[in-house]
Amino acid sequence: MHERVGTCEVCGREVFCLNGFLNGVAENGRLRCFDCADREDVAADARKEEEKRTE
Ligand SMILES: [Zn+2]
Repeated sequence: MHERVGTCEVCGREVFCLNGFLNGVAENGRLRCFDCADREDVAADARKEEEKRTE
């Protein structure tokens, strides 16, 4: 089972569903591949750390 779910909204790579396992992250109606989801999470964490330091 190899079903195309859509494309990553960040890099445009195709995101598949493999045997019921999504090859990416679907969140709040946004679809991203794991690479971009990881990168955004790291960026979000970095921003949080920055806010903590400036408070
Ligand atoms: Zn991507």
